[in-house]
Amino acid sequence: MDFAEGIEKILDMSFPKEKGTVRGLINSYAREFSENKKSIIEGKVPAWPVRLAISFICSRSGRWAALGIKAREQLEGRNLMDLLKERELNSFLDNVYTRHGRAYKESKEKISQFLTALEGLNNELKGWPKNERVKRFEQKIEKILETQAHIGRKGRDNILRDCGFLNYIPIDVHEQRFLLRTGIFHKYASLTESDPTDYDHLANAMSRFSKNELNELEVNGTRLSEAPGLVDLIIWHFSQEKTEKEISLTICAKDPKCEKCPLKNLCLFAKLHS
Ligand code: SF4
Repeated sequence: MDFAEGIEKILDMSFPKEKGTVRGLINSYAREFSENKKSIIEGKVPAWPVRLAISFICSRSGRWAALGIKAREQLEGRNLMDLLKERELNSFLDNVYTRHGRAYKESKEKISQFLTALEGLNNELKGWPKNERVKRFEQKIEKILETQAHIGRKGRDNILRDCGFLNYIPIDVHEQRFLLRTGIFHKYASLTESDPTDYDHLANAMSRFSKNELNELEVNGTRLSEAPGLVDLIIWHFSQEKTEKEISLTICAKDPKCEKCPLKNLCLFAKLHS
C-alpha cells in the first residue's frame, strides 16, 4: 500500500449524510474550475470566483462564516457588475449586515474598488491575444485581489485555484493537521523550508508530495501530481469536521478516526499510537 492507493480509497468513500462519493464531488469541482479557465480563454471573467471574492470580503475571508453564506445567497441570480451602482450595492449589503457599522462601510469600499478594477480587467482581457490570456489574467487578478479587495493569501489562493489554476493550494488548519500527522510534511519539507507553521513551507511540501506520490491518479482527466489544488480539496473533505452541507468524511478530524482510515498503515501518527 502506498499513498496513491490510500488517496484512491478516500476518493471512493461515500459521505455519511450526503449522497455521492468524494470522487464525484472532486470531479464536479474539477469540471467547474476547468469551465472557469475556459471562460478566461474566451475573454470573460468567470462569475463564481468573483462571487467567492465578494463573500470573502463580507466575511473577512470566511472568519465570519454566517456572513459569507448570507453574501453568497444574496449574490445568487444577481448581475455582479450591477453592484457598481450604489443603490444595488446598498441593497445587497443591507441584506448581509444587520447594521451600518465599520464592517459594512469597509466592505462597501472594498467591493466598489474590486469591481471597478475587475471591470477594467474584463475589458483588457478581450483585447489580449487568446494564447496570452490565462497567464496575464493570473498575474492581474492576484494583484487586484490583494490590493483592491484586500483578501489575504489563503483566500487569494482559493479564488485562483477555483479559476482553474490548480497549482494554488489554500492551506488551512485541516491540511496542516493532515500533513503533520501523516508525516508527509516531515518527508516532503526541505531543509530550508521546514517550519510547520509557515504557509509556504506547508504548501510546498504538499506540492512535492503530490508530484512524487500521486502521478498515477487522475480526477476528471487531470493528473493529481499536476494539481495539488485538487489534492487540497480531497484532504479538506476528508478531515473537516462539519459544514452546513455535511460534506465531510470527518476522519482525520480533531479527534482522528484512525481505525476507519485508509492511510493507517502509512501514517506516522497511527504507527506511533496503534
Ligand atoms: S491514520 Fe489517523 S492520523 Fe493518520 S491520516 Fe488517518 S485519521 Fe489521520
